[in-house]
Amino acid sequence: MSATPPKLSDQKYCKDCGSMIDARAEICPHCGVRQMQVPASGGKSRIAAALLAFFLGGFGAHKFYLGQVGLGILYVIFCWTFVPAIVAFIEFILYLVMSDDAFDRKYNQA
Ligand SMILES: [Zn+2]
Repeated sequence: MSATPPKLSDQKYCKDCGSMIDARAEICPHCGVRQMQVPASGGKSRIAAALLAFFLGGFGAHKFYLGQVGLGILYVIFCWTFVPAIVAFIEFILYLVMSDDAFDRKYNQA
């Protein structure tokens, strides 16, 4: 599909000293400060996924958002049955009750 153009998305600024560091770095090599889970430009937001599931879930918008394109297409194909809308609503609740940690482990791992 569409290849995302190479960006500086694999770099971020240390929240403490402002040095450019690897986006996946947990600890800044410059000042040693642990980086909190900054929503990096490539990172997926649990809340955004939940909102997409709620409003556009019947069309699999949250699946496309989470990179599960195959599943997203299935949602689109079957959207007229309203089954994807029901599943998406369940997923909406799951995203809401899921901890950020669990969400990151599931969807923000390379
Ligand atoms: Zn630093």
